Amino acid sequence: MSTKRNPTKYLGNEYQRLVHENLNWELKELQSPNEPVCTVNGKKVIMLCANNYLNLSTHPKLVEATIEATKKYGAGAGSDRSISGNMFIHEELDRRLAKFKHAPASLTYQTGFMANQGLIPQLCGRGDLFVSDELNHGSIIDGVRLSHADRAIFKHKDAEDLARVMDEAEKHKPPYGHIWILTDGVFSMDGDLAPLSAIAKIAKEHGAGVYVDDAHGEGVLGTGGRGIVNHFGLSSDEVHVEMGTFSKAFGVIGGHVSGGEDLRNFAYNKSRTWLLSGAMSPGVAAACIAAIDVLESEPQHVRRVWENREYFIKALKDLGFDTGNSETPIVPVLCGDSKRAKDLANFIWKKGIFALPIVYPMVSRDKARIRTQLSTKHTHEQLDKAIEAFTGGGKKLDLI
Ligand SMILES: *Cc1c(COP(=O)(O)O)cnc(C)c1O
Repeated sequence: MSTKRNPTKYLGNEYQRLVHENLNWELKELQSPNEPVCTVNGKKVIMLCANNYLNLSTHPKLVEATIEATKKYGAGAGSDRSISGNMFIHEELDRRLAKFKHAPASLTYQTGFMANQGLIPQLCGRGDLFVSDELNHGSIIDGVRLSHADRAIFKHKDAEDLARVMDEAEKHKPPYGHIWILTDGVFSMDGDLAPLSAIAKIAKEHGAGVYVDDAHGEGVLGTGGRGIVNHFGLSSDEVHVEMGTFSKAFGVIGGHVSGGEDLRNFAYNKSRTWLLSGAMSPGVAAACIAAIDVLESEPQHVRRVWENREYFIKALKDLGFDTGNSETPIVPVLCGDSKRAKDLANFIWKKGIFALPIVYPMVSRDKARIRTQLSTKHTHEQLDKAIEAFTGGGKKLDLI
């Protein structure tokens, strides 16, 4: 038997197509810790595209905790949590997070993506319905795709449209079993907030569950950075799953869900990503606990990131930039088409500012932008330098 088939040739072809269409990722190499001033590809730059909102990734308490727990418990947990890797430190992290969130119970996953991909497809099956904001994160979309449930989409942040979709759903024959409304808390491309109170109210009228992904809201919104549910004064009776990540403001890595005791028991018995994948390293769990400690005892970090956000967005707006619908430390600078966004990113990069262009297909063709993300430790001097670079680029490209 012989065949002319080359099993891997298409990999190269596909990559070349991406390059040709300008859709490939060009990876940059970070050669220092992820701090407001970093070394990237050998160049010293001001970092404006990190999720490390509170700069906790280099906080001494987190670093110490990782080292200590690694020495005490080892580099790895040795198994999945479902088998023999469920260490005291994982349980402690779950308990500490629940307390921080003012929720009855929490469950930690290895990443936020795995939380969404593991839990969402278990919530609804055949005869059930997911109702999703049109701009939800890819990990929610993938979670929904793994389920046999029906899907309906509502317009971005539009409670009225959600009510319409829910009314339609009530007419379905036979009636839907379970209905879950899924939404990002903070939308990562625009930095705007879900209308969570309105969503919770509509859900209650229809007996639907509410699942919020607060990856970009935790550590930023709510009292002491407790997140979007706290920000809106809601509880786990109204928002039934508050999902989040330790990889953004918490500065480490890991995912989690918070809600009732039943949610926790259901989640770890049903999520395949939890049951069939290794437990997070003890050093990681210890760093996550230390991040919660820091949030509880050092409120200045959250305050500072908001001060920086206000300072930066005001300057951009005063200059005439369009910062879209930002309500958080994610501040987009809208550029129109993809080429202008890429040109602006190149311009500021040359001036020592690192922020990524976000272009089609991540956002619509006319909404290309540079997405900036502020952090606690940015100094006004650094932000002024960034504003100067944006001013130069904005004038050159006729944005201001
Ligand atoms: C980053 C992100 C995730 C994934 O979280 P990880 O812990 O990094 O896997 C999920 N949802 C949203 C909205 C995100 O922004």
